[in-house]
Amino acid sequence: MNGSLDEKLEPIYQEVLHRNPGETEFHQSVHGVLQTLGPVLVKYPEFADLKIIQRICEPERQIIFRVPWQDDRGELQINRAFRVQFNSALGPYKGGIRFHPSVYLGIVKFLGFSQVFKNALTGLPIGGGKGGSDFDPKGRSDGEIMRFCQSLITEMYRYLGEYTDVPAGDIGVGQREVGYMFGQYKRLTNRFESGVFTGKGLDWGGSRARTEATGYGAVFFTQEMLKARNDSLEGKRVVISGAGNVAVFATQKAQQLGAKVIACSDSRGVILDEDGLDLDLLRQIKERERGPVSDYAERKPSAKYRENGCIWEIPCEVALPCATQNELTGKDAKALVENGCIAVAEGANMPVTPEGIQTFREAGIAFGPGKAANAGGVATSALEMQQNASRDSWTFEYTEARLQEIMANIHQTCFETAEEYGSPGNYSAGANIAGFVKVARAMEAMGH
Ligand code: GLU
Repeated sequence: MNGSLDEKLEPIYQEVLHRNPGETEFHQSVHGVLQTLGPVLVKYPEFADLKIIQRICEPERQIIFRVPWQDDRGELQINRAFRVQFNSALGPYKGGIRFHPSVYLGIVKFLGFSQVFKNALTGLPIGGGKGGSDFDPKGRSDGEIMRFCQSLITEMYRYLGEYTDVPAGDIGVGQREVGYMFGQYKRLTNRFESGVFTGKGLDWGGSRARTEATGYGAVFFTQEMLKARNDSLEGKRVVISGAGNVAVFATQKAQQLGAKVIACSDSRGVILDEDGLDLDLLRQIKERERGPVSDYAERKPSAKYRENGCIWEIPCEVALPCATQNELTGKDAKALVENGCIAVAEGANMPVTPEGIQTFREAGIAFGPGKAANAGGVATSALEMQQNASRDSWTFEYTEARLQEIMANIHQTCFETAEEYGSPGNYSAGANIAGFVKVARAMEAMGH
């Protein structure tokens, strides 16, 4: 991991390495947070005595279980699934479920750990957790997805509850999967407990603007970072990796705010469209046809497709990595900086490697870490829980206005905290410190 830790924090990190062997993504996310906490221990020496950092790095509960299910050929398949209930000092565990073949305990723990700080930053009463399975939804029929989700919840339901643990979606899990999981929870418990899942459909307890929220929020955060530098998104060339839910709605909001989004990608390749992306066409391909982005180039003459291409080589002023962890390396960051990039915000969780972050910092460009920049998704999940609890349903305009206000507050908190603790302009330090202090004080107060 690059960057050294101060002498009080290094042994804590060594202990995390020792207790969690082989979980490299978890190590990376813990290191990133510890790197910024030095000044906190100066201001709050009691946190060191109380071993609050050691406690925060250890999940409250980790559940690992088997998911047997039958595929369309009648063959039995076995997957492994996880729910890591990381921290409940501020509210019920809250965080999505990921379906992807790369999922193992280290991925779920890095996501759960980041979620604790992110959720604290929203200012809403939610703790942090995460779930996932190594199930690969690619190419699976609707029936197979349903049977997998039902089997997963048949085990997981006993750990959930609207006051206990509230999952949502993440990579590979959208409204369809949340529907099957929520439906199975309802059957097993005989309770229409709408607040136990978020990301639900509008007809059965979902919130308007939840689908859009992560992408919109990342763009609102970018807008705030640019505003702090007396700049705006108007007329900017924007590159957005991914073509899932986050990338699609980041594209939509960036376009609405006057930017030109020229590129997107999926796991197979990159699309460059100098005319600006045609979002209706992209959504037709990704959401309705569930096809690859290469189909876009076949239907739009101004677009170029590069198989296995690197999206970060495309010159732009704003880059929004919205695909997955560690997708933007130190080398990619150098290319972006050399080509005139001025702002980067993480729509995905930990998409930029530590070397990439350092490159952006040294170049003095605005860098919004995922804990802050992509918090709009989970914040709107908390708004969905509010609507469920009050048996209410808000308008799109009202919900989006709340989201925008939350993102502006998160930006301000990160900005001011970074200044207060001696790292002006360092949003990562601001986000980690502000999130940590809030959770740590609650843990201290409750004796956890
Ligand atoms: N998976 C999203 C995240 O990384 C959303 C979680 C939620 O809404 O609970 O924050």
